Amino acid sequence: MDRREFLQAMAFGCVAGQETVNAGSTEQKVSIPVNSKFARKLLSEHRIQKIETRLLQDRYPRLVGRNARLGHHGRGGQYQISILITDKGVRGWGMSHGPDEQVKKFVGLQVSELFDIEEGTNEDALLLDIPLHDLAGAILGAPVYALLGAKGPRKLPIYSGAIYFDDLDPEDKPRGIEGVLTSCQQDYEAGYRAFKLKIGRGFKWMPREEGIKRDIEVTRAVREKYPDCLILVDANDGYTCKDMMRYLSAVADCDLFWVEEPFPENRDDLLKLKEHMAKIGCKALIADGETRTERSEKWWRYGGYSQRHIDTLFALAEEKLVDVFVLDLGIVGFTNWRRIMPELEQSGVKASPHTWGWIPRPFYVAQLAAGVGNVIIVEGIPGKTEGVDYSAYKLVNGQIVVPDEPGFGLKLV
Ligand SMILES: [Mg+2]
Repeated sequence: MDRREFLQAMAFGCVAGQETVNAGSTEQKVSIPVNSKFARKLLSEHRIQKIETRLLQDRYPRLVGRNARLGHHGRGGQYQISILITDKGVRGWGMSHGPDEQVKKFVGLQVSELFDIEEGTNEDALLLDIPLHDLAGAILGAPVYALLGAKGPRKLPIYSGAIYFDDLDPEDKPRGIEGVLTSCQQDYEAGYRAFKLKIGRGFKWMPREEGIKRDIEVTRAVREKYPDCLILVDANDGYTCKDMMRYLSAVADCDLFWVEEPFPENRDDLLKLKEHMAKIGCKALIADGETRTERSEKWWRYGGYSQRHIDTLFALAEEKLVDVFVLDLGIVGFTNWRRIMPELEQSGVKASPHTWGWIPRPFYVAQLAAGVGNVIIVEGIPGKTEGVDYSAYKLVNGQIVVPDEPGFGLKLV
């Protein structure tokens, strides 16, 4: 089994296998997969007593630079979390964008009125989707992946999604390729064994030909320095089909794992690209679908993505022109991801929910992946969040190991 086959086998749970374990709980012992009837009863015995909101601040390990389209990504953002506390003193928390006034109405309700073990969060309470999954896990003494059925592997490949155009910074004294290699090394030392390189420097930051040349040089330099690591590339739709074919020809021996958003997705160009890839022996997967050009008018099972966007993606997947959907974790929504994963699986398409740029999100995806399977690799975000303890999760041999702690296993400190 080569590296690629191993990863694909892992994504389908063929390697790690499923295990039946007892979740570490203070009060209750719940076997995995969780018994729904038992779980519903326990959830009905807790009422929401208090909902607190707090702001968290992420700290990336360095200034994250530009990609093909966007300027500097900064040193880590600020975002809101909600902390749910039940009348029995159990807590659950997670990212949530809901304003306080909109969630007040849930105080006094049974947890089972907001969340079902098999269905996830009720439509009404989706503002608290992540906190409710964490709370249900805390009440049941079970990790989120167990609530989801424990269908996927507990060890998942993860890549660093924080390698941007570091060769172009600082702007007054650009470091060149060494800048990118330094970022890779920092993430390698943090445990990553897969890097996603941003490409598309010629879209707006460099003259086109120079940009393509630099993209090629960077890719080759990272491959040379890290022969044992996976390399993914992401053009943020900043290439033309013709230029992407030239780029891929020039890095054909670099064994790219995937090419993400090479250009705005369309059948003709993807067909040409795939034919070209076959000709040059490039086995990279095509990952697409993150960027939306329109919003859905109402929330549906693909959340805020439009039906047209999703239909296009599935049509492309059917022709094997797109292999991995990188739809965003939050735009689809956690509960929706639970429901749509079987549809992706049936269509022979893998998932890797987009997580950039909030540090808790890769951990949510790791639980989703261990819970419902079909996630080929997790987008990781190196760094720390002030006031959060992520230590239950370990990176071992480039894989993230999903812990047996209740809920998401992330602690507020
Ligand atoms: Mg992307």
